[in-house]
Amino acid sequence: MTLAELRQRLREQLAGGESPALDTDVLLCHVLGKPRSFLLAWPEYPVAPGEQAELAALVARRRQGEPVAHLTGRREFWSLELEVTPDTLIPRPDTELMIDAALARLPAGPAALADLGTGTGAIALALKSERPEYTVLAVEFNPAAAALARRNSERLGLAIEVREGSWFAPLAGLRFHMILSNPPYIDAADPHLRQGDVRFEPTSALVAEEEGLADLRHLVEQAPVYLEAGGWLLLEHGWQQGKSVRALLSGQGFARIETLRDYGGQERISLGQWPGR
Ligand code: GLN
Repeated sequence: MTLAELRQRLREQLAGGESPALDTDVLLCHVLGKPRSFLLAWPEYPVAPGEQAELAALVARRRQGEPVAHLTGRREFWSLELEVTPDTLIPRPDTELMIDAALARLPAGPAALADLGTGTGAIALALKSERPEYTVLAVEFNPAAAALARRNSERLGLAIEVREGSWFAPLAGLRFHMILSNPPYIDAADPHLRQGDVRFEPTSALVAEEEGLADLRHLVEQAPVYLEAGGWLLLEHGWQQGKSVRALLSGQGFARIETLRDYGGQERISLGQWPGR
């Protein structure tokens, strides 16, 4: 079968899903070991029977709902190719907005950053890739996820330090110019949890108490202990949580509080500057 024929067939088989054309191309590139440009450049390429069988197996799993990132074990974030496993959240494009916001607020030159609940290491690694001179510390509670973040750090040659523990626990005595987190923030009763890719992601990375606000609250309340005067706190949150997170930040004494919207136009990332005591 030619590549063009197979591409068409896979799109039809995935037609019930959210993104059949994209999923088809990502799976084809993965199995053929080729870049996406190849799919367009060589429609007559004869796909080997073994490759066809491998694709059929992956498409069957995708049709059962498994995320493409779990099938390939890879996900692009901020132009970095990250290894992904079911132990962590799959990095989202919306979280890249946090990287933009962070870079805009930090000068070049040495700075100390902490990414709390790092998962794959996405936020920490993206910032390290842009500012090699920063010291970047990533904290992760789940040992399997911490090991994954370390593998990503090694594979990409980006030297971050990964410490295991809950939120600020491994940071005693340290101060940072910026603390970032994409914590769990979804309410356990949210129907969103029963649709699409999130069904295959760990609940510990998605769900928080207090209608999703518990971890956000903890992060805002504790961050001042670990921030330099003038340091920033950046938090991702749910589309309906902007007001609550701004109230938490202002109640804690943060200044220059702002909320940024995601690609869907929803409030998604709030930030504030710690003025010092
Ligand atoms: N934004 C993700 C979603 O809606 C959740 C990310 C998170 O809980 N930190 O699926």
